[in-house]
Amino acid sequence: MKVLISVDMEGITGVVSLSHTDHTTAEYQRFRRLMTGDANAAIEGARAAGATDIVVNDSHGNMDNILIEELNPAASLISGSPKPFSMMEGIGPDVDAAIFIGYHARAGSAPAIHDHTWSSTTIYNATLNGKLMGEIMLNAALAGHFRVPVVLVTGDQLATTEAREVLGDVETATVKIARGRSAADCLPPAKTAPIIRQAAQSAAQKALERKCAPFVVQPPITLGIEFMRSIQAERAELMPGAKRTGARSVEWVGEDMASVYRTWRAFVYLAGSP
Ligand SMILES: [Zn+2]
Repeated sequence: MKVLISVDMEGITGVVSLSHTDHTTAEYQRFRRLMTGDANAAIEGARAAGATDIVVNDSHGNMDNILIEELNPAASLISGSPKPFSMMEGIGPDVDAAIFIGYHARAGSAPAIHDHTWSSTTIYNATLNGKLMGEIMLNAALAGHFRVPVVLVTGDQLATTEAREVLGDVETATVKIARGRSAADCLPPAKTAPIIRQAAQSAAQKALERKCAPFVVQPPITLGIEFMRSIQAERAELMPGAKRTGARSVEWVGEDMASVYRTWRAFVYLAGSP
């Protein structure tokens, strides 16, 4: 059994403030260690369920946060960016299950630690076939394109609620209860590690028994983006096939999630910073 573990940072044990996820701060050095710890707990759980091939994909910021010297040697690490499938690099038809560690709620969620969708300076709202989409839905839909189910999502209480709303039958582990965008009741890593390990084991077990359904979005797939500012939509509109649907919004229709995913990323680059 091959398991892909995509690890973001905002939903990691103890992360509440922007300084915790920003590589230029001294505080960040503590939290990349905790990020590695949450990933290790998921690796141990997947292994206990019988996973033989485990790939960890670093999915936050520059995507070189995880400390490879502290990573469980049962897994290999995809580190760095950019990479073709970004937060989902490593996904493909050979993967049996995907796990999302340290994820966060979509833009416009409250109270949620650092709610955003891909870029908090670029994206106000995003939709997939008319449904509000955050990173959980976007990344699960790409996994679904390869018929890979997402079996576990960890993060704060709104990230795990969103995961259940989008994916239905999915294991979740809530490592903190957000009280605001930058404040939460946090469980210490000694508490969250066994919770994540147990959830990963039971999720991977279900995947092994083929009890999990992939999140498949039927074509044609309409991607909608409402940017923060009109100038961003103006730049994004240059994309071939893009339709300007409002001062701040564009739409793009694709036939499969792999091309929608690439187009999404190109839109964000095109729109640029404010
Ligand atoms: Zn992130």
